[in-house]
Amino acid sequence: MSRGDMAKPLLGHGSTEGDPRITPASGRTIGVLGSGDFARSLAIRLVCSGFKVVVGSRNPKRKANLFPSAAEVTFQAEAVKKTDVIFVAVFREHYSTLCDLADVLAGKILVDVSNNTEINHHKESNAEYLASLFPACTVVKGFNVVSAWTLQSGARDGNKQVLICSNNQEAKRTVAEIAQVMGFTPVDMGCMSSASEIENIPLRLLPAWKIPIFLALGLFLCFFTYNLIRQVIHPFIREQKNKFYKIPIEVVNTTLPCVSYVMLSLVYLPGVLAACSQLYYGTKYRRFPDWLDQWLQHRKQIGLLSFFCAALHAVYSLCLPMRRSHRYLLIETAVKQAMEKKMNIWVEEEVWRMEIYISVGIIALGLLSLLAITSLPSIANSLNWREFSFVQSSLGFTALVVSTLHTLTYGWSRAFDENQYKFYLPPTYTLTLLVPCTVIIAKVIFSLPCIRHRLLRIRRGWEKGRYVKFVLPSATGEYSSGETSSNV
Ligand code: NAP
Repeated sequence: MSRGDMAKPLLGHGSTEGDPRITPASGRTIGVLGSGDFARSLAIRLVCSGFKVVVGSRNPKRKANLFPSAAEVTFQAEAVKKTDVIFVAVFREHYSTLCDLADVLAGKILVDVSNNTEINHHKESNAEYLASLFPACTVVKGFNVVSAWTLQSGARDGNKQVLICSNNQEAKRTVAEIAQVMGFTPVDMGCMSSASEIENIPLRLLPAWKIPIFLALGLFLCFFTYNLIRQVIHPFIREQKNKFYKIPIEVVNTTLPCVSYVMLSLVYLPGVLAACSQLYYGTKYRRFPDWLDQWLQHRKQIGLLSFFCAALHAVYSLCLPMRRSHRYLLIETAVKQAMEKKMNIWVEEEVWRMEIYISVGIIALGLLSLLAITSLPSIANSLNWREFSFVQSSLGFTALVVSTLHTLTYGWSRAFDENQYKFYLPPTYTLTLLVPCTVIIAKVIFSLPCIRHRLLRIRRGWEKGRYVKFVLPSATGEYSSGETSSNV
Protein backbone atom coordinates (compact mmCIF):
# COMPACT_ATOMS: atom_id res chain seq x y z
CA MET A 1 0.00 0.00 0.00
CA SER A 2 1.30 3.43 -0.86
CA ARG A 3 1.92 6.18 1.70
CA GLY A 4 -0.89 8.13 0.03
CA ASP A 5 -3.33 5.36 0.88
CA MET A 6 -2.35 5.54 4.56
CA ALA A 7 -3.10 9.23 4.68
CA LYS A 8 -6.60 8.73 3.29
CA PRO A 9 -9.42 8.65 5.86
CA LEU A 10 -10.94 5.21 6.27
CA LEU A 11 -14.40 6.65 5.94
CA GLY A 12 -14.85 9.59 3.65
CA HIS A 13 -18.15 11.46 3.61
CA GLY A 14 -20.41 9.69 1.17
CA SER A 15 -17.62 7.34 0.22
CA THR A 16 -20.06 4.65 -0.91
CA GLU A 17 -22.45 6.95 -2.72
CA GLY A 18 -22.75 6.23 -6.39
CA ASP A 19 -20.37 3.28 -6.21
CA PRO A 20 -22.32 0.22 -7.38
CA ARG A 21 -19.61 -2.15 -6.15
CA ILE A 22 -20.17 -1.27 -2.50
CA THR A 23 -23.27 -2.42 -0.61
CA PRO A 24 -24.35 -0.02 2.17
CA ALA A 25 -22.92 -1.43 5.40
CA SER A 26 -26.15 -1.78 7.38
CA GLY A 27 -28.45 -4.39 5.85
CA ARG A 28 -25.72 -6.55 4.34
CA THR A 29 -25.15 -10.12 5.46
CA ILE A 30 -22.19 -10.74 7.73
CA GLY A 31 -20.79 -14.16 8.50
CA VAL A 32 -19.33 -15.28 11.81
CA LEU A 33 -17.25 -18.45 12.08
CA GLY A 34 -17.34 -19.92 15.59
CA SER A 35 -20.02 -19.95 18.25
CA GLY A 36 -18.09 -19.00 21.38
CA ASP A 37 -18.33 -15.94 23.64
CA PHE A 38 -16.93 -13.50 21.10
CA ALA A 39 -19.00 -14.88 18.21
CA ARG A 40 -22.16 -14.61 20.30
CA SER A 41 -21.51 -11.01 21.36
CA LEU A 42 -20.55 -10.10 17.82
CA ALA A 43 -23.74 -11.64 16.42
CA ILE A 44 -25.91 -9.78 18.99
CA ARG A 45 -24.22 -6.46 18.21
CA LEU A 46 -24.46 -7.00 14.43
CA VAL A 47 -28.15 -7.90 14.62
CA CYS A 48 -28.84 -4.84 16.80
CA SER A 49 -27.00 -2.69 14.25
CA GLY A 50 -29.26 -3.82 11.41
CA PHE A 51 -27.09 -6.49 9.76
CA LYS A 52 -28.23 -9.94 8.70
CA VAL A 53 -26.04 -12.46 10.51
CA VAL A 54 -25.19 -15.99 9.54
CA VAL A 55 -23.16 -18.02 12.03
CA GLY A 56 -21.03 -20.95 10.90
CA SER A 57 -20.59 -23.66 13.52
CA ARG A 58 -19.33 -27.23 13.52
CA ASN A 59 -22.44 -28.13 15.49
CA PRO A 60 -25.21 -25.64 14.59
CA LYS A 61 -28.05 -27.58 16.21
CA ARG A 62 -26.44 -27.48 19.64
CA LYS A 63 -25.41 -23.84 19.42
CA ALA A 64 -28.42 -22.25 17.71
CA ASN A 65 -30.31 -21.47 20.93
CA LEU A 66 -27.34 -19.41 22.21
CA PHE A 67 -27.81 -16.83 19.45
CA PRO A 68 -30.56 -14.26 18.87
CA SER A 69 -33.39 -15.68 16.76
CA ALA A 70 -32.66 -13.12 14.02
CA ALA A 71 -29.26 -14.73 13.43
CA GLU A 72 -29.10 -17.84 11.25
CA VAL A 73 -26.93 -20.60 12.70
CA THR A 74 -25.79 -23.18 10.21
CA PHE A 75 -22.83 -25.30 9.17
CA GLN A 76 -19.58 -23.46 8.45
CA ALA A 77 -19.60 -24.08 4.66
CA GLU A 78 -23.25 -23.01 4.37
CA ALA A 79 -22.61 -19.80 6.29
CA VAL A 80 -19.57 -18.87 4.23
CA LYS A 81 -21.51 -19.28 0.96
CA LYS A 82 -24.08 -16.67 2.05
CA THR A 83 -21.74 -13.73 2.66
CA ASP A 84 -18.64 -11.87 1.49
CA VAL A 85 -17.47 -10.64 4.89
CA ILE A 86 -16.67 -13.26 7.52
CA PHE A 87 -15.49 -12.69 11.09
CA VAL A 88 -13.24 -15.55 12.14
CA ALA A 89 -14.10 -15.87 15.86
CA VAL A 90 -11.91 -18.92 16.35
CA PHE A 91 -8.57 -19.26 18.15
CA ARG A 92 -5.39 -19.25 16.02
CA GLU A 93 -4.66 -22.87 16.99
CA HIS A 94 -7.82 -23.94 15.14
CA TYR A 95 -7.32 -21.93 11.94
CA SER A 96 -5.90 -24.96 10.13
CA THR A 97 -9.17 -26.86 10.80
CA LEU A 98 -10.90 -24.30 8.54
CA CYS A 99 -8.70 -25.21 5.55
CA ASP A 100 -11.46 -27.47 4.15
CA LEU A 101 -13.42 -24.28 3.52
CA ALA A 102 -10.64 -22.74 1.36
CA ASP A 103 -12.63 -23.10 -1.90
CA VAL A 104 -15.83 -21.47 -0.60
CA LEU A 105 -13.84 -18.77 1.17
CA ALA A 106 -11.90 -17.75 -1.97
CA GLY A 107 -12.32 -14.05 -2.83
CA LYS A 108 -13.98 -13.16 0.49
CA ILE A 109 -12.98 -10.79 3.26
CA LEU A 110 -11.86 -12.54 6.47
CA VAL A 111 -11.78 -10.43 9.63
CA ASP A 112 -9.22 -11.78 12.08
CA VAL A 113 -10.37 -10.90 15.62
CA SER A 114 -7.94 -13.13 17.48
CA ASN A 115 -5.64 -12.34 20.37
CA ASN A 116 -2.63 -14.15 21.79
CA THR A 117 -1.82 -15.11 25.35
CA GLU A 118 1.67 -13.53 25.33
CA ILE A 119 3.20 -10.47 23.66
CA ASN A 120 4.93 -11.43 20.36
CA HIS A 121 4.01 -15.06 21.02
CA HIS A 122 4.45 -16.12 17.38
CA LYS A 123 6.94 -14.97 14.76
CA GLU A 124 4.14 -13.89 12.43
CA SER A 125 0.93 -12.26 13.57
CA ASN A 126 -2.29 -14.32 13.70
CA ALA A 127 -3.70 -12.27 10.82
CA GLU A 128 -0.62 -12.93 8.65
CA TYR A 129 -0.86 -16.61 9.53
CA LEU A 130 -4.54 -16.66 8.50
CA ALA A 131 -3.64 -14.86 5.25
CA SER A 132 -0.95 -17.48 4.54
CA LEU A 133 -3.51 -20.30 5.03
CA PHE A 134 -6.05 -18.60 2.75
CA PRO A 135 -4.10 -16.79 0.00
CA ALA A 136 -7.24 -16.39 -2.11
CA CYS A 137 -8.92 -14.32 0.65
CA THR A 138 -8.41 -10.75 1.79
CA VAL A 139 -7.60 -10.64 5.48
CA VAL A 140 -8.37 -7.62 7.68
CA LYS A 141 -7.17 -7.44 11.28
CA GLY A 142 -9.65 -5.78 13.62
CA PHE A 143 -12.01 -5.89 16.63
CA ASN A 144 -9.49 -7.80 18.80
CA VAL A 145 -9.07 -4.76 21.10
CA VAL A 146 -12.75 -4.83 22.11
CA SER A 147 -13.96 -7.47 24.52
CA ALA A 148 -17.02 -9.65 24.19
CA TRP A 149 -18.51 -7.56 27.01
CA THR A 150 -17.95 -4.25 25.17
CA LEU A 151 -19.54 -5.73 22.06
CA GLN A 152 -22.65 -6.73 23.99
CA SER A 153 -23.01 -3.42 25.80
CA GLY A 154 -22.91 -1.72 22.42
CA ALA A 155 -19.80 0.47 22.79
CA ARG A 156 -21.48 2.53 25.48
CA ASP A 157 -19.12 1.05 28.06
CA GLY A 158 -15.43 0.48 27.47
CA ASN A 159 -13.18 1.28 24.56
CA LYS A 160 -14.88 2.63 21.45
CA GLN A 161 -11.88 2.40 19.16
CA VAL A 162 -11.46 -0.48 16.76
CA LEU A 163 -7.97 -0.68 15.28
CA ILE A 164 -7.95 -1.98 11.74
CA CYS A 165 -5.18 -2.95 9.33
CA SER A 166 -4.98 -4.73 6.00
CA ASN A 167 -3.03 -4.70 2.77
CA ASN A 168 -6.30 -4.11 0.89
CA GLN A 169 -7.65 -0.59 1.23
CA GLU A 170 -11.13 -1.49 -0.08
CA ALA A 171 -11.56 -4.40 2.35
CA LYS A 172 -10.34 -2.21 5.18
CA ARG A 173 -12.89 0.45 4.31
CA THR A 174 -15.70 -2.16 4.24
CA VAL A 175 -14.77 -3.43 7.74
CA ALA A 176 -14.40 0.16 8.99
CA GLU A 177 -17.92 0.93 7.77
CA ILE A 178 -19.28 -2.10 9.58
CA ALA A 179 -17.47 -1.01 12.77
CA GLN A 180 -18.92 2.47 12.49
CA VAL A 181 -22.48 1.21 12.01
CA MET A 182 -21.95 -0.91 15.14
CA GLY A 183 -21.12 2.26 17.10
CA PHE A 184 -17.35 1.96 17.16
CA THR A 185 -14.66 4.33 15.93
CA PRO A 186 -12.48 2.67 13.30
CA VAL A 187 -8.82 3.65 13.41
CA ASP A 188 -6.64 2.96 10.36
CA MET A 189 -3.41 1.31 11.50
CA GLY A 190 -2.06 0.87 7.99
CA CYS A 191 -1.04 -2.37 6.30
CA MET A 192 -0.87 -5.95 7.56
CA SER A 193 2.58 -5.51 9.11
CA SER A 194 0.83 -3.57 11.93
CA ALA A 195 -1.17 -6.68 12.92
CA SER A 196 1.41 -7.81 15.52
CA GLU A 197 1.27 -4.40 17.16
CA ILE A 198 -2.56 -4.50 17.24
CA GLU A 199 -2.48 -8.03 18.67
CA ASN A 200 -0.08 -6.92 21.43
CA ILE A 201 -2.27 -4.01 22.59
CA PRO A 202 -4.78 -6.02 24.70
CA LEU A 203 -1.88 -7.81 26.41
CA ARG A 204 -0.02 -4.75 27.62
CA LEU A 205 -0.38 -4.01 31.32
CA LEU A 206 -0.65 -0.25 31.94
CA PRO A 207 2.26 0.66 29.62
CA ALA A 208 2.02 4.40 30.34
CA TRP A 209 2.01 3.79 34.10
CA LYS A 210 5.12 1.64 34.46
CA ILE A 211 7.68 4.46 34.86
CA PRO A 212 5.46 6.65 37.12
CA ILE A 213 4.61 3.66 39.36
CA PHE A 214 8.28 2.66 39.70
CA LEU A 215 9.13 6.30 40.41
CA ALA A 216 6.45 6.51 43.13
CA LEU A 217 7.53 3.17 44.65
CA GLY A 218 11.20 4.23 44.59
CA LEU A 219 10.42 7.53 46.31
CA PHE A 220 8.18 5.76 48.82
CA LEU A 221 10.92 3.29 49.69
CA CYS A 222 13.55 6.03 50.13
CA PHE A 223 11.37 8.28 52.30
CA PHE A 224 9.96 5.33 54.26
CA THR A 225 13.47 4.12 55.16
CA TYR A 226 14.54 7.66 56.08
CA ASN A 227 11.47 8.19 58.31
CA LEU A 228 11.86 4.73 59.84
CA ILE A 229 15.42 5.54 60.88
CA ARG A 230 14.41 8.90 62.34
CA GLN A 231 11.15 7.92 64.04
CA VAL A 232 11.73 4.29 65.11
CA ILE A 233 15.38 3.18 64.87
CA HIS A 234 16.85 6.33 66.46
CA PRO A 235 14.73 6.25 69.69
CA PHE A 236 15.30 2.47 69.90
CA ILE A 237 19.10 2.77 69.71
CA ARG A 238 19.62 6.03 71.58
CA GLU A 239 16.90 5.83 74.28
CA GLN A 240 15.95 2.11 74.19
CA LYS A 241 12.36 3.18 73.50
CA ASN A 242 10.10 0.79 71.59
CA LYS A 243 8.35 2.86 68.92
CA PHE A 244 7.82 0.10 66.39
CA TYR A 245 4.05 0.54 66.69
CA LYS A 246 4.51 3.71 64.62
CA ILE A 247 5.44 1.79 61.46
CA PRO A 248 1.97 0.95 60.03
CA ILE A 249 0.40 4.38 60.39
CA GLU A 250 2.70 7.19 61.53
CA VAL A 251 5.72 6.32 59.40
CA VAL A 252 3.51 5.62 56.39
CA ASN A 253 1.60 8.84 56.97
CA THR A 254 4.78 10.92 57.09
CA THR A 255 6.05 9.18 53.95
CA LEU A 256 2.93 9.63 51.78
CA PRO A 257 2.93 13.47 51.76
CA CYS A 258 6.67 13.45 50.93
CA VAL A 259 6.02 11.22 47.90
CA SER A 260 2.96 13.23 46.86
CA TYR A 261 4.74 16.58 47.16
CA VAL A 262 7.91 15.50 45.33
CA MET A 263 5.84 13.79 42.60
CA LEU A 264 3.84 16.98 42.11
CA SER A 265 7.04 18.94 41.63
CA LEU A 266 8.23 16.28 39.16
CA VAL A 267 5.19 17.10 37.02
CA TYR A 268 6.51 20.64 36.55
CA LEU A 269 10.28 20.00 36.59
CA PRO A 270 10.49 18.61 33.01
CA GLY A 271 8.70 21.75 31.75
CA VAL A 272 11.35 23.84 33.48
CA LEU A 273 14.16 21.72 31.97
CA ALA A 274 12.52 21.97 28.53
CA ALA A 275 12.33 25.76 28.87
CA CYS A 276 16.00 25.89 29.94
CA SER A 277 16.96 23.82 26.89
CA GLN A 278 14.93 26.09 24.57
CA LEU A 279 16.50 29.21 26.09
CA TYR A 280 19.99 27.75 25.89
CA TYR A 281 19.78 26.60 22.28
CA GLY A 282 17.52 29.50 21.25
CA THR A 283 15.11 27.26 19.36
CA LYS A 284 12.11 25.01 19.88
CA TYR A 285 13.00 22.85 16.88
CA ARG A 286 15.80 20.95 18.61
CA ARG A 287 14.68 17.52 19.84
CA PHE A 288 14.72 17.05 23.61
CA PRO A 289 16.79 14.10 24.86
CA ASP A 290 14.77 10.87 24.98
CA TRP A 291 14.62 10.78 28.80
CA LEU A 292 13.12 14.29 28.89
CA ASP A 293 10.68 13.41 26.12
CA GLN A 294 9.54 10.33 28.08
CA TRP A 295 9.28 12.36 31.26
CA LEU A 296 7.13 15.02 29.56
CA GLN A 297 4.81 12.31 28.25
CA HIS A 298 4.31 10.78 31.72
CA ARG A 299 3.36 13.98 33.53
CA LYS A 300 -0.34 13.09 33.71
CA GLN A 301 0.33 9.73 35.37
CA ILE A 302 2.88 11.28 37.76
CA GLY A 303 0.31 13.95 38.72
CA LEU A 304 -2.42 11.35 39.29
CA LEU A 305 -0.13 9.30 41.53
CA SER A 306 0.70 12.48 43.44
CA PHE A 307 -3.04 13.00 43.98
CA PHE A 308 -3.46 9.37 45.04
CA CYS A 309 -0.74 9.72 47.71
CA ALA A 310 -2.20 13.04 48.90
CA ALA A 311 -5.68 11.48 49.22
CA LEU A 312 -4.24 8.54 51.21
CA HIS A 313 -2.36 11.02 53.43
CA ALA A 314 -5.66 12.84 54.14
CA VAL A 315 -7.42 9.59 55.10
CA TYR A 316 -4.51 8.42 57.28
CA SER A 317 -4.41 11.83 59.01
CA LEU A 318 -8.14 11.72 59.75
CA CYS A 319 -7.69 8.29 61.32
CA LEU A 320 -4.77 9.28 63.58
CA PRO A 321 -6.97 10.11 66.63
CA MET A 322 -8.72 6.71 66.33
CA ARG A 323 -5.56 4.83 67.31
CA ARG A 324 -5.29 3.32 70.75
CA SER A 325 -1.71 4.63 71.05
CA HIS A 326 -3.01 8.16 70.50
CA ARG A 327 -5.59 7.78 73.29
CA TYR A 328 -2.97 6.43 75.73
CA LEU A 329 -0.60 9.30 74.94
CA LEU A 330 -3.40 11.83 75.36
CA ILE A 331 -4.36 10.44 78.77
CA GLU A 332 -0.68 10.25 79.77
CA THR A 333 -0.21 13.93 78.91
CA ALA A 334 -3.35 14.87 80.85
CA VAL A 335 -2.19 12.94 83.93
CA LYS A 336 1.27 14.53 83.74
CA GLN A 337 -0.34 17.93 83.45
CA ALA A 338 -2.58 17.28 86.47
CA MET A 339 0.37 16.08 88.54
CA GLU A 340 2.35 19.17 87.60
CA LYS A 341 -0.77 21.20 88.45
CA LYS A 342 -0.67 22.96 85.08
CA MET A 343 -4.04 24.56 84.32
CA ASN A 344 -3.35 26.04 80.92
CA ILE A 345 -1.30 24.35 78.20
CA TRP A 346 -2.55 26.54 75.34
CA VAL A 347 0.38 27.63 73.12
CA GLU A 348 -0.85 30.40 70.83
CA GLU A 349 1.87 29.89 68.18
CA GLU A 350 1.22 26.13 67.99
CA VAL A 351 -2.52 26.70 67.68
CA TRP A 352 -2.07 29.09 64.76
CA ARG A 353 0.50 26.89 63.08
CA MET A 354 -1.86 23.90 63.18
CA GLU A 355 -4.88 25.89 61.96
CA ILE A 356 -2.94 27.26 58.98
CA TYR A 357 -1.26 23.91 58.29
CA ILE A 358 -4.57 22.01 58.08
CA SER A 359 -6.38 24.72 56.12
CA VAL A 360 -3.60 24.99 53.52
CA GLY A 361 -3.45 21.20 53.28
CA ILE A 362 -7.19 21.01 52.53
CA ILE A 363 -6.83 23.67 49.81
CA ALA A 364 -3.88 21.79 48.27
CA LEU A 365 -5.90 18.55 48.23
CA GLY A 366 -8.86 20.40 46.67
CA LEU A 367 -6.65 21.78 43.90
CA LEU A 368 -5.10 18.37 43.27
CA SER A 369 -8.60 16.84 43.03
CA LEU A 370 -9.51 19.45 40.44
CA LEU A 371 -6.39 18.63 38.43
CA ALA A 372 -7.15 14.91 38.62
CA ILE A 373 -10.77 15.39 37.51
CA THR A 374 -9.83 17.60 34.56
CA SER A 375 -7.30 15.04 33.37
CA LEU A 376 -10.16 12.55 32.73
CA PRO A 377 -10.55 12.31 28.94
CA SER A 378 -14.30 13.11 29.03
CA ILE A 379 -13.69 16.33 31.02
CA ALA A 380 -10.47 17.26 29.21
CA ASN A 381 -12.27 16.93 25.86
CA SER A 382 -14.91 19.42 26.97
CA LEU A 383 -12.27 22.10 27.68
CA ASN A 384 -10.67 24.23 25.01
CA TRP A 385 -6.88 24.51 24.88
CA ARG A 386 -6.75 27.70 26.99
CA GLU A 387 -9.02 26.29 29.70
CA PHE A 388 -7.06 23.05 29.82
CA SER A 389 -3.69 24.79 30.05
CA PHE A 390 -5.07 27.20 32.69
CA VAL A 391 -6.18 24.28 34.88
CA GLN A 392 -3.19 22.02 34.32
CA SER A 393 -0.51 24.69 34.24
CA SER A 394 -1.67 27.66 36.36
CA LEU A 395 -3.84 25.80 38.89
CA GLY A 396 -1.29 22.98 39.01
CA PHE A 397 1.49 25.42 39.81
CA THR A 398 -0.76 27.04 42.45
CA ALA A 399 -1.24 23.57 43.96
CA LEU A 400 2.55 23.21 44.15
CA VAL A 401 2.90 26.60 45.89
CA VAL A 402 0.07 25.80 48.34
CA SER A 403 1.62 22.37 49.05
CA THR A 404 4.91 24.15 49.77
CA LEU A 405 3.12 26.38 52.31
CA HIS A 406 1.57 23.24 53.83
CA THR A 407 5.04 21.69 54.16
CA LEU A 408 6.59 24.87 55.58
CA THR A 409 3.85 25.29 58.21
CA TYR A 410 4.31 21.64 59.13
CA GLY A 411 8.05 22.09 59.55
CA TRP A 412 7.85 25.59 61.08
CA SER A 413 11.12 26.08 62.99
CA ARG A 414 12.09 22.42 63.26
CA ALA A 415 14.93 22.86 60.78
CA PHE A 416 16.63 25.16 63.31
CA ASP A 417 16.16 22.81 66.27
CA GLU A 418 19.26 20.71 67.03
CA ASN A 419 17.19 17.90 68.57
CA GLN A 420 15.47 17.32 65.24
CA TYR A 421 18.72 16.10 63.64
CA LYS A 422 18.51 12.40 64.45
CA PHE A 423 21.80 10.67 63.58
CA TYR A 424 22.68 14.05 62.01
CA LEU A 425 19.84 13.49 59.54
CA PRO A 426 17.81 16.67 58.86
CA PRO A 427 14.00 16.57 59.25
CA THR A 428 12.37 14.87 56.23
CA TYR A 429 10.39 17.94 55.21
CA THR A 430 13.60 19.89 54.52
CA LEU A 431 14.62 17.24 51.97
CA THR A 432 11.23 17.26 50.27
CA LEU A 433 11.45 21.02 49.78
CA LEU A 434 14.51 20.80 47.51
CA VAL A 435 12.94 19.93 44.14
CA PRO A 436 9.65 21.86 44.57
CA CYS A 437 11.48 25.03 45.64
CA THR A 438 13.85 24.72 42.66
CA VAL A 439 10.79 24.45 40.36
CA ILE A 440 9.06 27.42 42.00
CA ILE A 441 12.20 29.61 41.82
CA ALA A 442 12.76 28.62 38.16
CA LYS A 443 9.13 29.44 37.32
CA VAL A 444 9.46 32.83 39.00
CA ILE A 445 12.65 33.52 37.00
CA PHE A 446 10.89 32.48 33.76
CA SER A 447 8.09 34.92 34.51
CA LEU A 448 10.51 37.87 34.54
CA PRO A 449 9.57 39.98 31.49
CA CYS A 450 12.91 39.69 29.65
CA ILE A 451 13.04 35.88 29.95
CA ARG A 452 9.30 35.36 29.42
CA HIS A 453 9.45 37.47 26.26
CA ARG A 454 12.38 35.48 24.83
CA LEU A 455 10.75 32.14 25.71
CA LEU A 456 7.49 33.24 24.10
CA ARG A 457 9.29 34.20 20.89
CA ILE A 458 11.12 30.88 20.79
CA ARG A 459 7.85 29.01 21.26
CA ARG A 460 6.36 30.96 18.35
CA GLY A 461 9.16 29.85 16.02
CA TRP A 462 11.93 32.43 16.52
CA GLU A 463 15.41 30.91 16.37
CA LYS A 464 18.76 32.19 17.53
CA GLY A 465 20.99 32.90 14.54
CA ARG A 466 18.12 33.10 12.07
CA TYR A 467 16.65 36.27 10.54
CA VAL A 468 12.86 35.86 10.80
CA LYS A 469 9.75 37.95 10.90
CA PHE A 470 7.86 37.53 14.17
CA VAL A 471 4.57 38.64 15.63
CA LEU A 472 4.19 38.79 19.40
CA PRO A 473 1.40 39.73 21.79
CA SER A 474 2.24 42.87 23.73
CA ALA A 475 1.56 43.35 27.44
CA THR A 476 -1.86 44.78 26.55
CA GLY A 477 -2.69 41.65 24.57
CA GLU A 478 -2.29 43.39 21.18
CA TYR A 479 0.04 41.88 18.62
CA SER A 480 3.21 43.69 17.60
CA SER A 481 5.34 42.59 14.69
CA GLY A 482 8.97 43.14 13.86
CA GLU A 483 12.03 41.64 12.32
CA THR A 484 14.90 40.33 14.27
CA SER A 485 18.21 38.64 13.86
CA SER A 486 20.21 36.50 16.24
CA ASN A 487 20.99 37.27 19.87
CA VAL A 488 18.22 39.82 20.26
P1 NAP B 1 -14.46 -19.60 22.57
O1 NAP B 1 -15.60 -19.20 23.44
O2 NAP B 1 -13.61 -20.72 23.02
O3 NAP B 1 -15.02 -19.95 21.12
C1 NAP B 1 -14.19 -20.45 20.11
C2 NAP B 1 -15.06 -21.07 19.04
O4 NAP B 1 -14.23 -21.53 18.01
C3 NAP B 1 -15.81 -22.28 19.51
O5 NAP B 1 -17.05 -21.95 20.06
C4 NAP B 1 -15.96 -23.11 18.25
O6 NAP B 1 -17.25 -22.94 17.69
C5 NAP B 1 -14.97 -22.51 17.27
N1 NAP B 1 -14.09 -23.52 16.68
C6 NAP B 1 -13.89 -23.69 15.35
N2 NAP B 1 -13.02 -24.67 15.15
C7 NAP B 1 -12.66 -25.16 16.34
C8 NAP B 1 -11.80 -26.20 16.76
N3 NAP B 1 -11.12 -26.95 15.89
N4 NAP B 1 -11.67 -26.41 18.09
C9 NAP B 1 -12.34 -25.67 18.99
N5 NAP B 1 -13.17 -24.66 18.64
C10 NAP B 1 -13.33 -24.41 17.32
O7 NAP B 1 -13.51 -18.36 22.31
P2 NAP B 1 -13.89 -16.80 22.23
O8 NAP B 1 -13.70 -16.18 23.54
O9 NAP B 1 -15.22 -16.64 21.56
O10 NAP B 1 -12.75 -16.26 21.27
C11 NAP B 1 -12.80 -16.48 19.87
C12 NAP B 1 -11.74 -15.60 19.20
O11 NAP B 1 -12.03 -14.22 19.51
C13 NAP B 1 -10.32 -15.86 19.72
O12 NAP B 1 -9.42 -15.79 18.65
C14 NAP B 1 -10.08 -14.72 20.71
O13 NAP B 1 -8.70 -14.38 20.80
C15 NAP B 1 -10.87 -13.61 20.06
N6 NAP B 1 -11.29 -12.55 21.02
C16 NAP B 1 -12.07 -12.87 22.09
C17 NAP B 1 -12.45 -11.89 22.99
C18 NAP B 1 -13.34 -12.17 24.17
O14 NAP B 1 -13.66 -11.23 24.93
N7 NAP B 1 -13.77 -13.40 24.36
C19 NAP B 1 -12.01 -10.57 22.78
C20 NAP B 1 -11.23 -10.26 21.67
C21 NAP B 1 -10.87 -11.28 20.79
P3 NAP B 1 -18.06 -24.19 17.03
O15 NAP B 1 -17.92 -25.30 18.01
O16 NAP B 1 -19.43 -23.69 16.90
O17 NAP B 1 -17.40 -24.45 15.74
